Parts: sequence; C-alpha cells; structure tokens
Amino acid sequence: MGIRLSIEITSPLTPDDKDLLSGVAVMTLAIANHEMAKNAFPDAFGDGDEAGVTATPARCGFTDPKRPDRVCIADEGHGGRHKFRALPN
Ligand SMILES: [Zn+2]
Repeated sequence: MGIRLSIEITSPLTPDDKDLLSGVAVMTLAIANHEMAKNAFPDAFGDGDEAGVTATPARCGFTDPKRPDRVCIADEGHGGRHKFRALPN
C-alpha cells in the first residue's frame, strides 16, 4: 500500500486552516503509529489488511485474583486454564 500525502500551506493561516492542519497532523501520526505497531506486533494484525485491527479476537480479560496487575490474554471463551500476563505500564 502506498501513501501519498500532499500539504500546501499558504500563510497567513486562518483559524479554519489551523484546525485543518491539526487534523492532518493527527491523521499522519495515526498512520505512522499504526505502521510501527504493525511491525512491532505482527501477530496482532492481519496480513496487510486494514480491517485486521478490528478483526483481532477479543481477549478473555479475566483478572488474576492473586495478582490484580495480571489479566488473561487467551482468546475470549477459551477452554482450560487462564493465561495470565502482567499489564503493560
Ligand atoms: Zn482466561
């Protein structure tokens, strides 16, 4: 997938231009973060499919009664024992 992003800025900026520029900046950051997250956690994303983000199966999320900082990371409705992992800080 290719990304083409063209931004032309002519000063002075009107308040509307500033809002638009903020929106573009946030969108650019979101795209960059998404690509970084995909590289860092390939298992959490589909194979180059943008819908893969929402298609990630839900987690069980059961909290370890002995260690409240740990939750089950197994798929929702899994069989057998919970697979507890510490919550990232
Ligand atoms: Zn579980």
